[in-house]
Amino acid sequence: MSHGLVTAAYIVAAIFFIFSLAGLSKQETAKNGCYSGMIGMAIALIATIFGDNTAGFGWIIIAMIIGGAAGIYKARKVEMTEMPELIALLHSFVGLAAVLVGFSSFIEPGDVSYDMETIHLVEVFLGIFIGAVTFTGSIVAFGKLNGKISSAPLQLPHKHKLNLAALVVSFILMLIFVSVDGSWTALILMTLIALAFGWHLVASIGGADMPVVVSMLNSYSGWAAAAAGFMLSNDLLIVTGALVGSSGAILSYIMCKAMNRSFISVIAGGFGTDGSAPAADGEIGEYREASPAEVAEMLREANSVIITPGYGMAVAQAQYPVAEITELLRKNGAEVRFGIHPVAGRLPGHMNVLLAEAKVPYDIVLEMDEINDDFPETDVVLVIGANDTVNPAAETDPNSPIAGMPVLEVWKAKEVVIFKRSMNTGYAGVQNPLFFNENSVMCFGDAKSTVDEILAELKK
Ligand code: NDP
Repeated sequence: MSHGLVTAAYIVAAIFFIFSLAGLSKQETAKNGCYSGMIGMAIALIATIFGDNTAGFGWIIIAMIIGGAAGIYKARKVEMTEMPELIALLHSFVGLAAVLVGFSSFIEPGDVSYDMETIHLVEVFLGIFIGAVTFTGSIVAFGKLNGKISSAPLQLPHKHKLNLAALVVSFILMLIFVSVDGSWTALILMTLIALAFGWHLVASIGGADMPVVVSMLNSYSGWAAAAAGFMLSNDLLIVTGALVGSSGAILSYIMCKAMNRSFISVIAGGFGTDGSAPAADGEIGEYREASPAEVAEMLREANSVIITPGYGMAVAQAQYPVAEITELLRKNGAEVRFGIHPVAGRLPGHMNVLLAEAKVPYDIVLEMDEINDDFPETDVVLVIGANDTVNPAAETDPNSPIAGMPVLEVWKAKEVVIFKRSMNTGYAGVQNPLFFNENSVMCFGDAKSTVDEILAELKK
């Protein structure tokens, strides 16, 4: 393929990636967004493999077979609830790739003209730095999301000063690296510092702030890819990396707003948990229980119902009976709507995906801001496997690790039914005073079984 043809193919692929992002921004068009991404990536791969700059065709095919097989195996096996950790792991691969590209580009710089030498060295240095931070940060995020690493924040003394020192020393090392036209010692030292910095940055973050971290790492992985694009002089990688980096940054901003955190302190790392008291996880009063038959009775009499799903609905895969109950109640004349918290579940848009999968009409699925004022006029709220996102302590307890996070104000409804298996805490490890309110009842059990039982009762 001629250079001109490769460039044209790259432009077409980049346009498909932009269509993909546009499609993914709405549930109705998300599938088409995925197809656009796949077409764009196929064009990009073909143009790169058959491009005039590519050597080692055999190696590429072997790498593609191994990578493709691993990807297909993992994608088929992964549960919806494991998606966030898979995404974190994939981010770590992008970071590692940027580190490896950086080192290979330093060892074998290719045709770098004399004028461009300094720029090339800066590209190598920054590419390895961003890649290394993304790599270890994503590994810690993976561990925190799948429970292998505690979700409690690591509280090293002077943690902000440590982060600042890592940045300052890395900057000095970059000046040395560039001034001596490339020093292995400076490069290796910086790589070690960046690996530790990435680890520390994410380890210091508490459970409730993880959504912001995941989107932030998403952004970092994009910038790592863009840095690799500069080193490889690959325009498409630069454009794609910048698209991922900036859309990840926008997502981080949206998540910060949703969590009431400062965007600047997020990108500076180590935010959110300073000064918070250890989370209380014991029981803090008496609670009432209701059987599925009693909940069915409440629903029969309700004119307005709001369902607020959370991570537990995803674990139980309860979205299908929930969708059936919704249909049944609506047929019987009740107004049924869903209230979705921006960080419900374990990945942005998690609940919307599940509800769309179960064919819940989009127009009754509302964002937190759209529905929060309506709770006082609501007869029954069904909290299905949600906990942190409906915790009033976020508003009332300034020492809570989730203090300041806007939540769904379900406790303002006439009656609240909470579906969960025990009195255990949610992801942030904080007890929820909602469970002990006079207008709350607990419906214990796996959410799918209890909702199935309610459905059977309603059908009688
Ligand atoms: P939580 O994680 O706060 O709570 C989920 C609840 O579901 C638990 O209390 C659990 O209680 C219950 N549960 C688990 N399995 C089942 C089951 N099979 N049947 C019934 N109940 C079940 O969920 P939320 O969605 O309210 O909050 C999300 C949390 O995750 C927030 O802290 C958020 O910051 C964090 N997070 C979000 C991310 C995102 O991007 N959305 C990413 C990373 C973290 P029990 O064990 O008693 O059943």
